[in-house]
Amino acid sequence: MNPYRVAVVGCAGRMGRMNLAAIHAAEGCVIAGGTDQPGSSAVGSDIGLLIGQGPLGLLVGDDPVELFAAADAVIDFTTPAATRRHAELAAQAELVHVIGTTGLTPADQAVIDKAAIQTVVVQAANMSLGVNLLQLVTEQVARALDPDYDIEIVEMHHRHKVDAPSGTALMLGEAAAKGRGVALKQVARLAREGQVGARPRGEIGFATLRGGDVAGEHSVIFAAEGEQIVLTHKATSREVFAKGAVKAALWGRGKPAGLYTMRDVLGLTE
Ligand code: NAD
Repeated sequence: MNPYRVAVVGCAGRMGRMNLAAIHAAEGCVIAGGTDQPGSSAVGSDIGLLIGQGPLGLLVGDDPVELFAAADAVIDFTTPAATRRHAELAAQAELVHVIGTTGLTPADQAVIDKAAIQTVVVQAANMSLGVNLLQLVTEQVARALDPDYDIEIVEMHHRHKVDAPSGTALMLGEAAAKGRGVALKQVARLAREGQVGARPRGEIGFATLRGGDVAGEHSVIFAAEGEQIVLTHKATSREVFAKGAVKAALWGRGKPAGLYTMRDVLGLTE
């Protein structure tokens, strides 16, 4: 069987480098190549040097069309605008598209949903096993408790993160709302400031912390009079996200077109 060629867009980014290293280390696939945004200082450099290896003879490009022609799958942790474009191109080339980018608008999501009619898309705001388990547990706990238990989701990330609350926090909020049988957008309080008044019953609150080099920490708090349940996940390295992304790329090989999540990849679907 021909080697399974996995490309990385945004390959000079924090996650991009991790994704390259994870493909390099994985069995059953090879690095097809990588791009970064036009004008990036990384364009033209050898991909091996980005991951602390010797030269691999593959140079960072800036043309996704050229890259996708030589790949079977692509891992994409970039920006919403870039992911939109990549989704259209990956659909045309019928590549497995693994999307980790967060901060997507409904319009961005509509482009991805359309692309998933034509090709395999695996999309998750968090690719770690631990967070996907936390998502399941959050839904179950929310289902078991009534709205006397106030739900608050607290997250902390490194100082460079650009979107808030994190995609993972929103994913956990969706899980809590689903367990409670409500729509998140009806009950979400994404931030608080000033004279906001007493907390409405049934609200799902979010708090965002930023600082240092934190790879990602999320807690879901169920607080009632007399007790609290706190479910916490801490990512101590970005490697868990990259390993999950490579697992998703390998899993997608030969699957029918469609939009899948990490829960499908990890076999956590009910
Ligand atoms: P980053 O800024 O370090 O990396 C993004 C890279 O994309 C940069 O190198 C940038 O130059 C590149 N880029 C931008 N536009 C491009 C284009 N048009 N073509 C090619 N490359 C382009 O950011 P990061 O910390 O690596 O995070 C990237 C995204 O991944 C964010 O949305 C973040 O929230 C998300 N993320 C998701 C998970 C997950 O498990 N799903 C985990 C961590 C981060």
